[in-house]
Amino acid sequence: MEDIRGNLGIINEQIKLCAEKCGRKAEDVLLCAVSKTRTPEEINIAIDAGVTDIGENKVQEIMDKFDAVKPVKWHMIGHLQTNKVKYIIDKVSMIHSVDSYKLAAEINKRAGQHGIVMDILIQVNSAEEESKFGITTAETEALIKEILDTCENIRIKGLMCIAPYADDPEDIKVYFGDVKKQYDEFGKIDHPMLDFKYLSMGMSHDFPVAIEAGSNLVRVGSAIFGERNYNK
Ligand SMILES: *Cc1c(COP(=O)(O)O)cnc(C)c1O
Repeated sequence: MEDIRGNLGIINEQIKLCAEKCGRKAEDVLLCAVSKTRTPEEINIAIDAGVTDIGENKVQEIMDKFDAVKPVKWHMIGHLQTNKVKYIIDKVSMIHSVDSYKLAAEINKRAGQHGIVMDILIQVNSAEEESKFGITTAETEALIKEILDTCENIRIKGLMCIAPYADDPEDIKVYFGDVKKQYDEFGKIDHPMLDFKYLSMGMSHDFPVAIEAGSNLVRVGSAIFGERNYNK
């Protein structure tokens, strides 16, 4: 069995080193442990080892595991279909993957029904890859403004991205740098429901580069829980 506690120790140490390397503190980078395909038992080991934030990319997995997992902050990090918002609106503390007004409007509606304000991140895709969800820079600004104008139950906390595949780590660095620029730019928008606090970028294979580029929320799965086996 995977040594989840041991792996977490290694990841936390790496996060600390990367943060300090660029003049920041370990506490400034939030670790979101991505537990897709993992059991509640495995997730609870991570929580006992200090994990405070859990990420899932499927609505069904959040619903299946929610009651069996110890109290923790849940993050929806995967593509979210509008018709499934209602199942997780009262379970997650933040939705990272908002990439359309239609989705935001549904989140706003459901949050209103529960009397809550939902924290969201806008998922950007500055590499403009066809295959990935997310939106372009110009679309991002328009979407942020539309949400602020019309969605009173949503607080925009920052941006999220998934780096495109690249053979050369330098390419990823440029990509992350572009997203950081957008983050700094949009963070200047003056509105009570815009409170840029999170730049969610970096996964198991690229989180050191992401932190160096300015990420303060890394989503790490396999480096903590082991390689995923989808046929399990
Ligand atoms: C699975 C996933 C991760 C974590 O990936 P690892 O390579 O296992 O660290 C991060 N972000 C999203 C959106 C994911 O779906």
